[in-house]
Formats: sequence, structure tokens, C-alpha cells
Amino acid sequence: MRIAMISEHASPLAVGGVGEIGGQHTHVAELATALVGEGHDVRVYTRRDSDAQPDSVSTPDGYQVCHVPAGPALRVPRDELLPHMGEFGRWLAGQWRDGEWTPDVAHAHFWLSGLATMHAGRRAGVPVVLTYHTLGSTKRRQQGTGAPDTSPPGRIGYERALGRGADRVIAQSQEEIGELVRLGVPRSRLTLVPGGVNERLFRPDGPVAPRDPARPRIITVGRMVERKGLQDVIRAMPAVPEAECVVVGGPPAELLPADGFARRLRALAESCGVADRVKLLGALPREELASWYRSSDVLVAAPWYEPFGLTALEGMACGVPVVGTNVGGIADTVVEGLTGDLVPPRDPRALGTAVRRLLADRVRRFAYATAALDRIRNRYSWKRCAEQLSMVYAAVSTAGRHASAVA
Ligand code: UDP
Repeated sequence: MRIAMISEHASPLAVGGVGEIGGQHTHVAELATALVGEGHDVRVYTRRDSDAQPDSVSTPDGYQVCHVPAGPALRVPRDELLPHMGEFGRWLAGQWRDGEWTPDVAHAHFWLSGLATMHAGRRAGVPVVLTYHTLGSTKRRQQGTGAPDTSPPGRIGYERALGRGADRVIAQSQEEIGELVRLGVPRSRLTLVPGGVNERLFRPDGPVAPRDPARPRIITVGRMVERKGLQDVIRAMPAVPEAECVVVGGPPAELLPADGFARRLRALAESCGVADRVKLLGALPREELASWYRSSDVLVAAPWYEPFGLTALEGMACGVPVVGTNVGGIADTVVEGLTGDLVPPRDPRALGTAVRRLLADRVRRFAYATAALDRIRNRYSWKRCAEQLSMVYAAVSTAGRHASAVA
């Protein structure tokens, strides 16, 4: 099949670089690769955000990345991209209607991509599949009180309309299904297809980052935003004496001293009396990240909400037991008492207790890690994800052909 993936702000080409990337970048890159592996012809459309970008790039993984001229050719924060989505959609429609490549299906990632894709899909007769990645309603509810919701006004209304208009909506967790049904998306149009983890990069064997053998190591990985709960991990540290905590994510290391959030984390570690045991590493390339997971005794994932949560899966794939918060995708991937421990979000006390107990119990850590690896292999491979999505794509494009035949 010809598959178009639309990811307006998150280019798969950013994965592997040193800048800050998020789960959507990884997801789109890995999914495109896996779909190529299933024999599909895949193009990823992302916004041109620099003059240096060529019109299209063929990646070594076998898919093509097309740079869409929509808005200025410079980085614009995601929350300011809405005014350019009309232009994005018109450009796509023109390409798909009049160009040499018309997709059988278009899969939009994030609501803004959804707007452009829906516009183009309707005009070019291409069925639309949508993955939200995050939802405005959840973000509004869970965002820290100190961090205002920067989403454009009207986001939730657009998300509702998109969910009702798309041919299929892909949810990444059970929690997201509930949220989408509450939003008004028909249950019949929802399919649960969790993302995967890169088992070539994230596996138990491979290089291990240096560590002090006498001191247990906790790792937590996430962008430096309040909802990732990094501050809760630091607050939990006094309950975990002896251990060191490695915090990965945020800007690259050299920019950490100037970063407001990193400074707040440092000040918090000081005030909790754990500054000598908390190391902020900044953003790491994924290859290096794998060696840090492997060097750790426990991975802590403490978000307040998490649509999917790749880092917990990556840790599990490296054979590291997880203590996670009982939210979103983490509540699905971590099976309480079998592959890890779950605690309520925003509860440093519960987190500290769970981590201390797990660090004190070598046998349980081993059992969790072994069961987690099994779970990853059986349920969270990109191949499995690509196979499930291929079925969805086939179903919506067949339904589309029937509809046009009837009309
Ligand atoms: N990541 C990375 N380097 C870092 C921190 C994170 O490459 O320093 C990657 C990580 O491997 C994962 C993604 O960024 O693939 C984060 O995804 P997640 O779903 O955990 O969070 P999101 O950023 O989507 O909220």
C-alpha cells in the first residue's frame, strides 16, 4: 500500500540527533521503518522548518520524508502552528490530487496534522487514520498549576470534530479510549494499537555506562516539563538512602545551566538534601541512552499523565525493572507485581517507598526484568504494531472504495 504519514512538527529525521526530541518523533520514525518492513511504500510529510531542508529526503530505512512549505521556514513552537495548517492541508491536497503519488491511506499524528490531513483527504479521496498522541482535554486537566495550558483555544473542539470525521482513530492506551469516548468519538471508530520499542537499540546486552558499584542507580528519563514528574522523583529520593538518581532529558548538557526547569530541579534537590545524589545529564542520543538504562537498577517513570510512555518500555526492553505511575500507557505496559510496580501519580512518598523496597529485593528485580522482557517481545514490537496498523489501513481503504463505488 501507499501510506502517507503526516507529522507536522515532529520530523523522524530529528531522531538520533542531539536536540530535544519527544515520543512522537521516535514513534513516526520507527513506525515508518516497520511499515516499510511490511512491504509498504511510505512517505512522511513534515513541515519545512529551515531553508536548508531539501524538498524530500530518502532515508536509509526505506521511506521518504517530504518537507511541506507551510508558514515560515523556521522552527515555530508546536502550539503556534495552527494558523499554518490550512496551507499545509492545501499543499497536501494538491500533491495527492495532481502529483504522481496518491496514497491509499493517510495516517495523521497529533491533532494539528489531523486538521491538514482531513482537509487533504476529503479533497483527494484518501481515507484518514488519526493518532492524537496527546489530547487537549487530558493536558488541560493534568497540566501543572504553575504551567499554563499553551494549546490554542478551541483545541478540544477540533479534536472532537476530528475524531468524529476520521475514518479510524488509533488509541495508544485503555485510558485514552475512555477519554476519547468521553470526548464524543464513536467507540466503533476506535482501535487500540500500542506503539512499539526498538529492540535492536534497547536490549539487555550491549555497552553499559560507567557507575559506582557500591551505589544503587535509579534512572528517570523525560522532557523537562512539569507533567513528567521529575520533581516527584527528586522528592522521593530522601526515602531511598544511598541510591543515586540519574535524570536524562531536557536540553543538551551544555545548555542545562541556563535552563529554568533544570535550575528548579537542582534547587529542589538541594532543598531535599539529595543534591549530591542527583545527576542531571541533559538530552542524550538514543544509542547512549540505552547504555544508561542498562547501568541502572530501577527505572522510575513518574508522569502525571502519559499518553504512551516510550521510556518505560525502553527500560523494560533493556532488562531494567520499572516503578511507574498508574497513568495512561504506563498503566498498560507495566503489569503491577509482575513486570514492575505502579504507584499513584504526584505521590513522592509512595514512589520513594516502592523504589526503596524494590532496590532491597534483588530477586523481585530479576523476576520483574525477566517478565518485562517477555512482555516486550510478545506485545510491543514495532513489527506487531505495523501488522495491526496494516489491517486498519486495509479496512479503511476498502471501505472507502466501497463508498465511492456506491456513490
Ligand atoms: N529520548 C532521547 N534522548 C533523551 C531523552 C529521551 O532520545 O535524552 C527519547 C526516548 O528514547 C523516547 C522519547 O525520547 O523514545 C521520549 O518518549 P516518551 O514517550 O517517553 O515521552 P514524550 O516525549 O513523547 O512525552
